[in-house]
Amino acid sequence: MRLLLFGPPGVGKGTQAKLLSQEYRVPHISTGDLLRTAVTQGTPVGKKAKAIMDEGHLVPDDLMIAIVREALSGPAAANGFILDGFPRTLPQARALSALFEELGITSYTVIEFDVDEEELIRRLASRMMCTKEGTIFNAHTDSLTIDSPCPQCGSPLMQRDDDKEGTVRNRLRVYRVSTAPVIHYFDALGVVCRVDGTGSVDVVNREIKVLLEERP
Ligand code: AMP
Repeated sequence: MRLLLFGPPGVGKGTQAKLLSQEYRVPHISTGDLLRTAVTQGTPVGKKAKAIMDEGHLVPDDLMIAIVREALSGPAAANGFILDGFPRTLPQARALSALFEELGITSYTVIEFDVDEEELIRRLASRMMCTKEGTIFNAHTDSLTIDSPCPQCGSPLMQRDDDKEGTVRNRLRVYRVSTAPVIHYFDALGVVCRVDGTGSVDVVNREIKVLLEERP
């Protein structure tokens, strides 16, 4: 099971990646989560990335490629992985192909999620994250406020700094300009499946599993 989850911020990649990772017992590798951990720990990578992330811009390719190389080369990813948030540029996509070749990985699937932009803005504005597990909730549909404890583990919830409205619009613009065109690279390789990310978490999860079962 080697999956790349592709789509704009707020489309549900992280939520689905967490579910699929449990269901298929393969690690969820989220470049955003790896960067947020580096920021929290105050590592050199974290210090470099923080301001870029807060603005909604992309962290430089060489840094991201090094992070993903390390994550995919370890034993944890030997039997599969769910890569979430990478690649986001064409140089990243090319570097990933080269890394796959080096690691002997010949088969993988890119799942492209689609949700309309106004819905993404609404979702991001009400997105909350568990400070301990990173589980994602929606303030409206899960009836939560920023002061509520995590419904699953009781830890405090937080809103990501880059989910504030000004940054969200920038992230969506960066996605449109730099990331969305990367799908053509994978389309040319014939590895893309598309899902409508508008439905409930369960509906989208089922749709992905059906798509994966249908793939040769
Ligand atoms: P995410 O959690 O995937 O929305 O990522 C949060 C932020 O981390 C992004 O807005 C970027 O600033 C940075 N980031 C994550 N993945 C990448 C990547 N592949 N390339 C560049 N920047 C990234």
